[in-house]
Amino acid sequence: MAAGDVITDAVSYAGRHASTCGYCASTTNTSVADGAIAHRLTTAVYNDLIEDGWRRSGRYVYKPVIGTTCCATHVIRLRCVEFTLSKSQRKVMRRIARTTARTSEDEDDGSGTAAANERLEITTARSSFVREEYELYERYQTSVHGDAPEDVSVASYRRFLVDSPFDDEPPGPGTPSTGFGAFHQQYRIGGKLVAVGVVDILPKGLSSKYFFWDPDYARLSLGKVSALKEIAFVLEEQRRGARGFDFYYMGYYIHDCPKMRYKAEYAPSEIRCSTTRRWVHVDDEDVRRRLDVGEHRLLSDEPALERAMCPVEDSLVGVSMRGHLIGVCALREFPSLAKSLVLFGNLNYRDVVNYVTEEQTEWCNSAGTSALRIVNVIAVERASRGELEDDDTENEGSEDDEMY
Ligand SMILES: [Zn+2]
Repeated sequence: MAAGDVITDAVSYAGRHASTCGYCASTTNTSVADGAIAHRLTTAVYNDLIEDGWRRSGRYVYKPVIGTTCCATHVIRLRCVEFTLSKSQRKVMRRIARTTARTSEDEDDGSGTAAANERLEITTARSSFVREEYELYERYQTSVHGDAPEDVSVASYRRFLVDSPFDDEPPGPGTPSTGFGAFHQQYRIGGKLVAVGVVDILPKGLSSKYFFWDPDYARLSLGKVSALKEIAFVLEEQRRGARGFDFYYMGYYIHDCPKMRYKAEYAPSEIRCSTTRRWVHVDDEDVRRRLDVGEHRLLSDEPALERAMCPVEDSLVGVSMRGHLIGVCALREFPSLAKSLVLFGNLNYRDVVNYVTEEQTEWCNSAGTSALRIVNVIAVERASRGELEDDDTENEGSEDDEMY
């Protein structure tokens, strides 16, 4: 980072948390992940993070601890140019082509609205709150996932699917036509919103985050359609000149979870060995054998790629207070950590506590090269100045709530 650059990446470590698991339906706290609040991230850094096993939910980023957590999550990616449609994927595409061509006759209720254009159309826009999308989300969550209506709120929707740590990065030479950042892709049939794909468009590819659809259209397998359309998006942007925009990231591959195994069907996908940091093909015989016997931590016998340690001097330090970023500095600009503490002193943050704890250093080391630029937390406690109320509790009902 050159001097004078605006500091764009700042993350506060939020601790290692255990919770129940949606993949194996465990009712005890068997799922273990490191979590962090991303105040700001460039898409390039986030791209590194997801290759390192991180995912985000709004501004909250997390990484399951393989070897400790109940369901081993492997980051999975597809090099789109190598993708070949399987038989069943062809079938899905044929069905949607047939159905959308036929919709005008089938669904004409006499109102005359189901006329002209019944094609499936997909538009891509920057992530924002759109009432129509939210209403679809509400229907999807309650009817497909069985959520209680009172558990679905505008605030939780925003936090989960609208908020992001990215600044909008505009398109430029060699980038996708959309630029980079967080996006919503609307799927419309005959003008009617039938599904929304929530995706991150990143320097190395498209990361699929969530997809929700109209339960009335369940027969169209829109979830499968969306994966194929997202792959097609990458290929189309490549054709239009996007460089290095190669991958489709589907989130986690969980070998032991039948619901998640379908991701391997987007072949030839690769997953990353968390120990050697090598990418291996998920349909490789040796890899499958290791996964079958639960050997999740070592998927490759290749020598491990070097683990970059975290030089504290090269890190950015986010100064957070109760989850809110209140200051940030690059330690490189200071000869020592002690000097930067002087800086905070000058900002009247008198009691600097808990900086670079052992736990944070460990996290720093395990987070991979991307973390070089973003890790480190200095918690600044201003309680001594009598400015703080104890307001740590999460308030689901407030849209202004920034806590995670
Ligand atoms: Zn589990």
